[in-house]
Amino acid sequence: MAASSGTTNRVAVSGTVTDRISGGPIDGSTITFRNSLETRSATVVAGSYTIDVASGFNYDVHVSGPANVTHETQMLNVTGAGEFPFSVLKWGSGAFGATNDDTFQKFFHQLARVGPSSDPIALRKWVIPPTQLYVVEGTVPPEQLAAVLAVLGEINAESVSDLWCRTVAPLNIVTGPDINASPDGVIIVRPNRDTGSSGTIGPTSIRTGTVTCNMFRSGDNRLQTHQELKGILLHELFHVAFAYHVCGGDLGANPFGFSSTNCPYPDSLMANLGDLPVTLSPQDKLASCIVYHPDTHPGNLYQDVNPTYR
Ligand SMILES: [Zn+2]
Repeated sequence: MAASSGTTNRVAVSGTVTDRISGGPIDGSTITFRNSLETRSATVVAGSYTIDVASGFNYDVHVSGPANVTHETQMLNVTGAGEFPFSVLKWGSGAFGATNDDTFQKFFHQLARVGPSSDPIALRKWVIPPTQLYVVEGTVPPEQLAAVLAVLGEINAESVSDLWCRTVAPLNIVTGPDINASPDGVIIVRPNRDTGSSGTIGPTSIRTGTVTCNMFRSGDNRLQTHQELKGILLHELFHVAFAYHVCGGDLGANPFGFSSTNCPYPDSLMANLGDLPVTLSPQDKLASCIVYHPDTHPGNLYQDVNPTYR
């Protein structure tokens, strides 16, 4: 026993702790490294910490305090002294006019982690950049295909980049015959007359997607208007990017009881309360930028639990 404790190699680890939204320093939170034998804590001062730990262990790291959403990183392997930066979600921070508060965190959880009831509650994220919208020919008359292409051109110019927090450029829009394959980086868009609209809710690590869009409103005996088609395609593409319904339609596990009358941000693309918006809301944009921040990992759990360090 004395021999083993005498050979433990203690090392200094340090790093920055910053706000994942603004990049600014976190101050006054407590950072804790925990392994199977011990727990070591330090205070984060002006965005930095230093702590001594035993090397050769996997650590669970917590960053908690009134300044930020409680953060946990699992499986941090310390093999020697080194720098280990962390980012956390600072309360009251924001972007695009949206604020990271308790309501936003609940919205974010429903949007980014909840899915159809059979799916696990873990954050979805593209792990390669999407590059192409492949629009299938021959499923609707040529003038309706042209309407789809016109709408996709507008969405591509106005919103696609924001769906992935500007980590992707506008996509290449191509047309071609129907295909069975799901090539990496390709989002297949398949128009139909009146069998419905959908967008794939991907696995936690997304590489491809499929959208269908309904051209004819049989209840109203007419084609979709340009604006209706735009709202439909933008909503379905947000599904493909990562997002799930927040207030209307299938809400999956819905842990916070959102509904048409308890809807935190009714102008979200995913509020899904009838007429679909044709632009992202401020909260949609902020959510996308948290999902597509490099420190938010596929499989991230509520509130801010990353399954691995990198
Ligand atoms: Zn939907």
